[in-house]
Amino acid sequence: MKLETNYSLKNENTFHIDVSAKYFAEVFSEEDIKNMLSERRIKEIPLLIIGGGSNILFTRNFDGLVIKNSISYINVIEEDDNKIIIEAGAGVRWDDLVQYCVEKKYGGIENLSLIPGTTGAAPIQNIGAYGQELKDTLYYVKGIFIENLALKKIIKDECNFGYRDSIFKRELKGKFVITAVAVCLSKKPKVNLTYAAVNEELDKLNIKEPSIKEVSKVIRMIRETKLPNPTEIGNAGSFFKNPEISESLYLDIKNLYQDFKGYKLPNGYHKISAAWLIEKCGWKGQRFGDAGVHKDQPLVLVNFGTASGNEIRDLSLQIKESVFKKFKIELEEEVNIF
Ligand code: FAD
Ligand code: NAP
Repeated sequence: MKLETNYSLKNENTFHIDVSAKYFAEVFSEEDIKNMLSERRIKEIPLLIIGGGSNILFTRNFDGLVIKNSISYINVIEEDDNKIIIEAGAGVRWDDLVQYCVEKKYGGIENLSLIPGTTGAAPIQNIGAYGQELKDTLYYVKGIFIENLALKKIIKDECNFGYRDSIFKRELKGKFVITAVAVCLSKKPKVNLTYAAVNEELDKLNIKEPSIKEVSKVIRMIRETKLPNPTEIGNAGSFFKNPEISESLYLDIKNLYQDFKGYKLPNGYHKISAAWLIEKCGWKGQRFGDAGVHKDQPLVLVNFGTASGNEIRDLSLQIKESVFKKFKIELEEEVNIF
């Protein structure tokens, strides 16, 4: 483990924003983290933990210590005929864990295929896609409290998971370093085909009773065609959360737009597409210098090359303002802004 100074973060965030950290260290074990946290306490400087940097927008240099969590292992903790509990180090690429489980026919996270980033960051926003969320299979989260270096295992019920939300984004924000995540998967999996796009692709391939491997493969295909690859165009996936709106607001908009769609939630609210709102405000494919809105998926803001974090941020604020003006809906950022 090496402590770097004035370290460029350009390759550590998928927006490829060109900022630097005063100090930077990549850690490979709990011991490394404890050492780094002790060092940082001596210096009394701000701290930021990162994984793959795929849900972060940097708007300035970070005047403190950035720790990149690269703890990497996958262990079976417990199993019986029906289920298996697997623990992975926080630094394992999330999609490597998914592929490992899909290959072994352990079901429950296959719809989360190809989500970028690390396993350690997955509980932070309770990653979700195509009808599955991490919370559906999460068993526990292990980590270290920054204040006193105490180790703690946080069980699922304590994580306060919500839509792209958890205790780690709220009460424990900036207080807890996740070192490992355990999921409980099924050895007799049932596929989740609630999303239309997945069914359409399976139909095209004439697959009637898909395995989890086939579902994973189809989701990979959809994502590869629909989303910009961050290694080619800087982005952090969806910039905003998909909003949940009241029945009356839903009906008001539905009366005005034939193509408006929503999904009724058990609480009576409707989940709607933020991408649709942004497109209706005319932002799809717009480019201002090197900051822009993706041409196919308007929920994804992009850096075509040399955009600054503030340029992306300013664009996001203009989008929010126009959506509010037109639809009276306040978009909420999903990306973590520093
Ligand atoms: P980072 O961006 O490095 O960090 C995110 C936040 O977590 C930061 O606040 C950071 O401080 C904190 N953090 C990271 N690691 C730790 C740790 N070990 N301990 C404590 N705090 C930590 N998300 C979805 O939910 N669904 C999707 O379908 C999806 N699709 C995406 C598609 C693309 C093309 C991209 C670029 C992103 C997408 N995302 C999606 C967002 C992103 O991939 C996830 O949020 C992912 O979990 C972020 O992981 P990361 O390791 O890159 O986290
Ligand atoms: P989509 O499938 O067009 O869905 C748009 C919106 O409708 C989302 O709010 C989605 O909710 C909701 N929705 C669609 N089908 C639904 C159903 N059967 N039941 C309940 N809600 C439904 O979205 P997309 O942009 O193509 O993305 C596909 C999936 O990948 C979505 O789950 C999306 O969240 C996820 N994704 C996430 C990111 C990210 O960075 N966070 C990036 C790309 C894709 P949900 O958002 O709850 O799914």
